[in-house]
Amino acid sequence: MKKAGDAAKKTRKPVKAKKAVKAKTVKAKTVTTKKAVAAKKTTSAKKTVKAKKTVNRIPIKTVDLKIASHKGLFDEGCYGSQCQDECCGWGCDIDLATIKLITKHRDKVEALTGAKIEDCFKTPLKQDNDYIGGAYRETAVRKSDKLCCFHLKGSKGCSLFYLWIKEKLPKRIVPTICRTYPVTWHRGKLFADLPLKKNCKAKEKTPKGVKVASLFETQKKELKALFDIPKKEWKKLEDANKAK
Ligand code: SF4
Ligand code: SF4
Repeated sequence: MKKAGDAAKKTRKPVKAKKAVKAKTVKAKTVTTKKAVAAKKTTSAKKTVKAKKTVNRIPIKTVDLKIASHKGLFDEGCYGSQCQDECCGWGCDIDLATIKLITKHRDKVEALTGAKIEDCFKTPLKQDNDYIGGAYRETAVRKSDKLCCFHLKGSKGCSLFYLWIKEKLPKRIVPTICRTYPVTWHRGKLFADLPLKKNCKAKEKTPKGVKVASLFETQKKELKALFDIPKKEWKKLEDANKAK
């Protein structure tokens, strides 16, 4: 399965940046409250609601061209590899939009994981516009198999991918990072999470002279759906991919 983990931890490490974001939010809130008091009108309340724009796609400013040159999850991807979902051992960050869907379908998810939804998270909801829906929670890692709590119990695969593929639930039930991994992002930068786990499909050896799809090619559809990438940056990726 694809997921975040260290990448996410690595990328989300800058505590300073986080604090700065938080500070901004608090400031913004104070300003709107002041405005609201001054205006004493419902219109200002409306303005406040409007100002809280929902994040539907993650804004990207720059892309790392290694995404276009590195081997991707070719052929059957994670499913067709030796990898036993190694990157799920980190757990992942789940966007608010996905949390809502998981909660809505909790019976199905709990039947596949054997755990209560509440026990599958290790952190409370944190506001952060670097996530779809504007907030996220980190998943917990199971003690028994050292895999993310949303992993299928006793077999390869993720319960959320399963519900999307087999039970046709909306794809949004799969966390963003798990749909794009090993491509990840942090505060406007899109990049490949290198080095990869030992048995990752994107690291698999191929016979000499055999060309396989790049990360850009195998993750392209998801990148388009989940990120707001400037045309110029997208073109850079396409050009680098052609040149590889
Ligand atoms: S093949 Fe790579 S991306 Fe897929 S589950 Fe394994 S480590 Fe993760
Ligand atoms: S949500 Fe699924 S794919 Fe993502 S880390 Fe957890 S088990 Fe793996």
